[in-house]
Amino acid sequence: MKAAADILISGGTIVDGTGAPGRPGNVSIHDERLRLVAPGEDGPTASRRIDATGMVVAPGFIDLHSHSGLMILHEPRHEPKVRQGVTTEVIGVDGNSYAPFSSNDDLLAFVHLNAGLDGRPPIAFDWDTVASYLTRFDRQVSVNIAVLVGNSALRIAAVGWDDRPAEPRALARQRALLREAMEQGAFGLSSGLDYPPGSYATTDELAQLARQAASQGGFYHSHVRYTLGDRYLDPFREAIEIGRRGEAPAHITHFYHRLTFPGGPEPMLQLVDDARAEGLDVTFDAYPYEWASTRLLILTPMWVQAGGPLRTKERLADTSVRDRVRKELKARGQLFAGAGGLRDVRLGAFTRPDNLRWEARTFGELLDEVGGDPVDVLCDLLLDEDLGVSEVTPGPHTDGIRRFLRHPIGMVGTDSTFLGAKPSPRTYGSYPRILGQFVREEALLSLEEAIRRMTSAPADRLGLRERGRLADGLAADIVVFDPARVRANATYEEPRQFPTGIEWVIVNGSIVVEQGRHTGALPGRSLRHGRD
Ligand SMILES: [Zn+2]
Repeated sequence: MKAAADILISGGTIVDGTGAPGRPGNVSIHDERLRLVAPGEDGPTASRRIDATGMVVAPGFIDLHSHSGLMILHEPRHEPKVRQGVTTEVIGVDGNSYAPFSSNDDLLAFVHLNAGLDGRPPIAFDWDTVASYLTRFDRQVSVNIAVLVGNSALRIAAVGWDDRPAEPRALARQRALLREAMEQGAFGLSSGLDYPPGSYATTDELAQLARQAASQGGFYHSHVRYTLGDRYLDPFREAIEIGRRGEAPAHITHFYHRLTFPGGPEPMLQLVDDARAEGLDVTFDAYPYEWASTRLLILTPMWVQAGGPLRTKERLADTSVRDRVRKELKARGQLFAGAGGLRDVRLGAFTRPDNLRWEARTFGELLDEVGGDPVDVLCDLLLDEDLGVSEVTPGPHTDGIRRFLRHPIGMVGTDSTFLGAKPSPRTYGSYPRILGQFVREEALLSLEEAIRRMTSAPADRLGLRERGRLADGLAADIVVFDPARVRANATYEEPRQFPTGIEWVIVNGSIVVEQGRHTGALPGRSLRHGRD
């Protein structure tokens, strides 16, 4: 007699995440673990059966870049992501992790500074270490969470909020904090070199931190310093150099080509190929939409944001600072640029009643209505909304998206943000768009290969041993979708649209999506590096 299973998924095509060809087969789930059952073999009796006829059964998707580190604690069902088939996501990205913070004042200030990116939800900010932050997710959210340690958090603790070098003692302090965080289950180091105060770190400082993470089996996850050198290849060269100098795996996150770059996408990908040929462990992720999103504050120079949110607000109110900002933006050609310039920035996440009419409208529309100088309007808006405004702007060029997704080392990370009425459509549509448009309609890559980039490749990058594949004894994180119907419905105009064709999503053996509907189940937990 076979032991009874909790769930039996039968009749589907197994695409196991390794890139191997899909094959008929059944999957049983018992005590949060999965087992493959050959088509001819008698499956176990099961209290729950899922008929997957005509469907693909695959490992749940692992998102290498998500801005849910705070928002998921407020909206734990996490529907935009789980409805896409995501079962694990990486948070603490862009240098902006919300642990470790030994000072609660610093944590709250950091949340404030980042409000336009990661939100400022009404939750209890009652953690300090990575260990205590991780417990906030266990069995309280719908997906699994893997945490990176942002170098901004390390720098706030050891150097402070200002643009200062990290002296040897401060660097040693950062390394000690990172070591402790890694021991508690973090998966590596992140940086976001457009975001102060982490952006004040030098190449060498980051290399030494990356070395620490790598010595404990972690990796370096980098939103690069886009303003560096030629603003094209130099930012990525620095990320690779940090890996080389720190003897650390280097992962370039949201790698994409913009039409404003002085060259095409090929030289960017060549950097990765050359680094790998040299023996360096360099990888990247990309998201499949043309729309980027971040906090509106990013439009101000980094020196404006030094010293933390209160100091930032003092500067934004200062007319001499505004004059200097005006000169810098003019010099960069940013002030009155045409398509894709400041006027086209779509604004979101308003909270003041008199500002709500600007929700999901462009900066240009705002400017036309209120009149006045653009820098004054920008600074007044940031002050009025206590810094918490989000923006959506043109991002990856549409041809480049395909090139990056097809590269052999490419993985998928959504860079999803959860603020405003109209976020980037990547938040709701990334995985279904790849499966529906790029795999089925354009035949850009095979289904098996696309799924590998969403599952085992990110699992291997993270060092997750029990996820990202369908094999006996592994964790039962599973998505069942209809390959003929799967499609994204999220667009720039209407981004908050759930996809079609993602029928079942199972996290740690519990059904979270049942025939396209969220069940309300919260079986997710935080994963611990080295233990999961
Ligand atoms: Zn980023």
